[in-house]
Amino acid sequence: MKEQLEKYNCTDFSKKNIFFKYKNWMRVVMRRAESVGEIELPIAALIIDQRGRCIGRGTNKRQINKDPLGHAELIALRQAAFLRQDWRFNDCIMLVNLEPCQMCAGALIQARMGIVIFAAKDKKRGGFGGSIDLSKHKSAHHKMKVYGGLLEAESQKLLKLWFKKLRTGK
Ligand SMILES: [Zn+2]
Repeated sequence: MKEQLEKYNCTDFSKKNIFFKYKNWMRVVMRRAESVGEIELPIAALIIDQRGRCIGRGTNKRQINKDPLGHAELIALRQAAFLRQDWRFNDCIMLVNLEPCQMCAGALIQARMGIVIFAAKDKKRGGFGGSIDLSKHKSAHHKMKVYGGLLEAESQKLLKLWFKKLRTGK
C-alpha cells in the first residue's frame, strides 16, 4: 500500500488534499479549455505522471477534425500512450474540466488510469456519476479514484458562457 501511495508522490488521498495538490494543474486545464476557440466546446484534459510531469494534453477537436472520437480526454490519452509506449496509466492522473462522458470514462477504465479529477459535473452525459458511474460498475475490472468538483464554479461559468454565445450567435 505504501508503494502504491508513493507512486503518486502523495500520502493523503482525501478530496481536500487532492484538490489542494492539483488546483494549479486544473487552472492550466481551464486556461487551455478557454483557448479552444469558438467552434469547439471548451474542454481540455491533461495527464500527469508519477513524477509530476505533464505527459499528455488534449482539447476538444470534434468539429475541427470531424471526429466523433475527438474528445479532449482521448486525444490526451493517445499522446501520452505514444510518449510512454504503453497503454497502462495506473500511476497517472487525468485532469479535465468537465466530467468525462461515457465513452471517455470507458476509455479511462480501459487505460487503467489511476486517478481522475474533473471540475464541472455533467448531469446528462457524465460517466462518473452524472448519468451513470462506470468506475463503480461491476464490469470495471480496474478501480480508479475519481474526484469531481475542483474549480467547479469556474468551469460551469466557462461552459455556460459558451452555450449562451452559441444560442445568441454572438
Ligand atoms: Zn468524452
